[in-house]
Amino acid sequence: MTGALDDMGAMREALQLAAQAQAAGEVPVGAVVLKDGVVIGRGYNAPISGNDACAHAEIIAIQAACAALGNYRLTGCTMVVTLEPCVMCSGAILNARFSRLVFGAHEPKTGAAGSVINVFETAALNHQTAVTEGVLAPACRALMNGFFQGRREVIKRTTTPLREDALRTPDARFSDLVDWPYTPCYTTEISVLNGLRLHYVDEEVRAVTAAPIDVDASGRHGQGACLLLHGAGGWGYQWRYWIEALRARGQRVLVPDLIGFGRSDKPKRVSAHSPAFHAQVMAGLVAALGLSQVRVLDASGGLGAYLTRVHADVFPRSASIEVSRVGAQTVASAPFPDDGYRAAERAFAAAGFFDDDVHVSSDKKRVGEAIRMDAMRPDGEPSERAAALAFLDAFLDA
Ligand SMILES: [Zn+2]
Repeated sequence: MTGALDDMGAMREALQLAAQAQAAGEVPVGAVVLKDGVVIGRGYNAPISGNDACAHAEIIAIQAACAALGNYRLTGCTMVVTLEPCVMCSGAILNARFSRLVFGAHEPKTGAAGSVINVFETAALNHQTAVTEGVLAPACRALMNGFFQGRREVIKRTTTPLREDALRTPDARFSDLVDWPYTPCYTTEISVLNGLRLHYVDEEVRAVTAAPIDVDASGRHGQGACLLLHGAGGWGYQWRYWIEALRARGQRVLVPDLIGFGRSDKPKRVSAHSPAFHAQVMAGLVAALGLSQVRVLDASGGLGAYLTRVHADVFPRSASIEVSRVGAQTVASAPFPDDGYRAAERAFAAAGFFDDDVHVSSDKKRVGEAIRMDAMRPDGEPSERAAALAFLDAFLDA
């Protein structure tokens, strides 16, 4: 690695270290010490393996940096860590005379840089360290959430028996999804599921106190709910760049993994899949959550339009979103290849799976260019993203 690292570059290194902690069964936290843009100390969380309560990522990185410099002070250095430091580490950062602290995710239970207390704003302490927070926060938070969800799901999985004719992907396969900080929800309670486990994400309207993204559209569309249906070859994760844009527009956002995909159970037989079955599952989910009048964004190739025909009272409107080849390639590496997934893929790929020839799809009336799933990527073409956001505004106003 050559050239001076900026905060983001250093945070990426810290994230890699955090992943090493996770691989060792530790809470995934990583830290690097930067001097003039060069990493002079690295650490990742290791209290369990080292039988050492003090073996936090920051402490280990500080010890390495002091050894590298041959100095007990790290004046002019920057501590870059994936998680807001605890009281112990914040004290060590002050003692070492760091010039700057950069952290990723907040830690609401133990954070000592503002969440629980703020050691760095205590004027009486004789050294002041400047603090920058939130660098690559979604990735840092996703790593933590994935780790703790993985633990919780180990317990939950043993209590949700798997039907004999279905398969289930181990939750650990989903533990390090980037840009996916959402809590998994599961249900087996919808009668048509007949014991299959459905996974979904249910994210509330974005708090108005949160920093607005894009334009601040809160309130413009009133409150509503949207159901996001992924495409064949993918799972709910495909929608990761759409969720916050919708929440900022006053929408509660439901993102299921359809039966046969992602973290939902996967029947081994193609014949388990029919449009009516998937529609009943979605209608059942919405009813179980007490929702009505749910708008549908549909990348499944037709389930959204099917819902607006068969359950028009609940799903008044649907719009198609295209999954590009690029998107399809990334989902080809979906972490759940097995016979259940292949059965679902085959069912969805069958010609006319979602078409019923009695009705002409109302979806075909849509005007203008189709919006692509990838258009919402934060690193994508700005004009495409603007067009996607304008499309959302029009869709929610209609
Ligand atoms: Zn600590």
